[in-house]
Amino acid sequence: MPVRTARGFWSKREGLLVRLEREDGHASFGECAPIPWFGTETVGEAAELCADFDGRVNDVQIDAIPEKYGCLRFAFESARNADAVRLSDSAYLPVAALLPAGRGALDKIGALGDLGFRTFKWKVGVADAREEIALLDDVLAELPSGSQLRLDANGAWSRRDAEHWLAKCADRPIEFLEQPVAADACGADDLLSGLAEDYPTPIALDESIVGASDASRWLESDWPGIFVIKPALLGDARRVINRLPAGRIVFSSALETFVGAGAALRMAFEFYATANINSPRALGFGVWPLFMDKCFDGPPSLPFLRAENVANVNVSELWNALI
Ligand code: MG
Repeated sequence: MPVRTARGFWSKREGLLVRLEREDGHASFGECAPIPWFGTETVGEAAELCADFDGRVNDVQIDAIPEKYGCLRFAFESARNADAVRLSDSAYLPVAALLPAGRGALDKIGALGDLGFRTFKWKVGVADAREEIALLDDVLAELPSGSQLRLDANGAWSRRDAEHWLAKCADRPIEFLEQPVAADACGADDLLSGLAEDYPTPIALDESIVGASDASRWLESDWPGIFVIKPALLGDARRVINRLPAGRIVFSSALETFVGAGAALRMAFEFYATANINSPRALGFGVWPLFMDKCFDGPPSLPFLRAENVANVNVSELWNALI
């Protein structure tokens, strides 16, 4: 089904599945799921680099994949580490419920709250900023008690709109406001840092973190807010994530199939198994069902995801569905 984004409707998810077969015949899989308008490589560019490997690749070549190909690198990293992660089956992580933009959110909250969701994500920046802000208190009033609301503007706002929203959010239970202004706007980094300093509601970076070097840049500038991490875009994502402040990470979907999402989620479970924090932030993986062919979807969106749901994704079944 088409996904509504700040750039209109996204109806076709293009990507690559990588199958690595060891010399002993053991096969493992990874997914390259680019989002070119975020600034990643395109599927065509990734496919060209794969063609250069000519069917054989070794660890040195994987390590040498340039940062520009972060999505392809993630695919190879996922495949070569597929058997390295051991998860405790009893572990579980909370998931954020996705609300429709605009007034449509009001009709969905009740049922999602009854299911047990306590973190809700509402897309803003879709309609007129003043109209949407007038709905905020209605949305908050619908939430079950103890819930948190995430707002995601996908970079849609001007500085003025962002300030107006942040002033409104200040004394309300807003977990964070994601990407209020566009990552590629003139002076965006300074503007985001200024907003983070001036208002109490945490600001989350999403489109502003495309590759590993973006994550490093924000770390070095002592970014005080949240890091929304789409492992699928981050190349050797494990290395990036391990440098970030554990309490300020949100693991998030790149709208990939369950091949890539399974790898990203195993990474999240692995990360929280050793991170010294009380309550992990809800995963941004409440995205399924997403695909026409259901076999590419992950488990249906429930308030908690169990490690056992992602421990053994039957990827060869998905691979066979493609070929
Ligand atoms: Mg976002």
